[in-house]
Amino acid sequence: MNALSKSSVVAVIGAGAMGAGIAQVAAQAGHTVILFDAKEGAADKGRSGVLAGLDKLVEKGKFEQSLRNEVAERIIVAASLGDLRDARLVVEAIVEKLDVKRSVFASLEEVVADDSILATNTSSLSVTAIAAGLNHPERVAGLHFFNPAPVMKLVEIVSGLASSKQVLDTLFETARAWKKEPVRATSTPGFIVNRVARPYYAEGLRLLEERASDVASIDTILREAGGFRMGPFELMDLIGHDVNFAVTRSVFDAYFGDPRFRPSLAQQELVAANWLGRKTGRGFYDYN
Ligand code: NAD
Repeated sequence: MNALSKSSVVAVIGAGAMGAGIAQVAAQAGHTVILFDAKEGAADKGRSGVLAGLDKLVEKGKFEQSLRNEVAERIIVAASLGDLRDARLVVEAIVEKLDVKRSVFASLEEVVADDSILATNTSSLSVTAIAAGLNHPERVAGLHFFNPAPVMKLVEIVSGLASSKQVLDTLFETARAWKKEPVRATSTPGFIVNRVARPYYAEGLRLLEERASDVASIDTILREAGGFRMGPFELMDLIGHDVNFAVTRSVFDAYFGDPRFRPSLAQQELVAANWLGRKTGRGFYDYN
């Protein structure tokens, strides 16, 4: 099975932390990328953020100016979902809510060709449930990048019950062509990485709630002595508490309330305060 050809148009829906990064990855790999976000100005902001990041790398001599200019030409901001009509692959990276994702996928089926691939970047929701009820559920699969998408190599290729082998193989080869390291997973709650990572966050949060130690000390210990690249709190601040809390809730619900995956009240409070981490300037740490 071949990867998607470079001349194929890729669309990305949702231009937040993940969508913008995925658009960058696809554009660097040579695709024209149509970037759409429902929030006014968000797709422009996502595109500018990508280019600002690349400008910094160019300044440091770590990225070619010519490739930066090509990426700028290739990422095109869409005004409406209808602008995605030529996409052969759509990657959805919107809010982690099943009903919203399902409605976006249903609208997408009205727009793109019947054999275009519809991929979701969901961290935890059932790919099977996202695809259910569509006219062509066989063309839906998970294409799960990690944050930041241009840097992190791993991509989970997630099969729902109805996903076709052809679609999964194309996504696998496409991820390789995009210089990623794909792994296959089935649509279980949190797939592989987010399932294994949940207890990392959960135990950090429990230590905090039980006043065993403070945020900075727990992060330092796990980073310096535990060998993790980031401590749980700095990692949650990077991911965004809205996203992380939604993922924990979805994994907890999907495992019928298994206490191992119980969400934390401390994180619920951060979400209530809109202290979502780096993206709002404050989370467990203050970034202002
Ligand atoms: P984000 O909040 O940074 O961005 C989401 C974007 O989607 C926002 O710009 C929002 O305006 C847009 N959006 C919301 N509803 C929409 C709709 N109906 N149509 C079009 N646009 C819409 O979120 P994120 O961190 O980029 O996460 C996006 C997805 O990626 C989620 O499913 C999340 O679980 C997954 N994910 C996140 C991470 C992470 O570390 N943040 C890692 C891997 C996967």
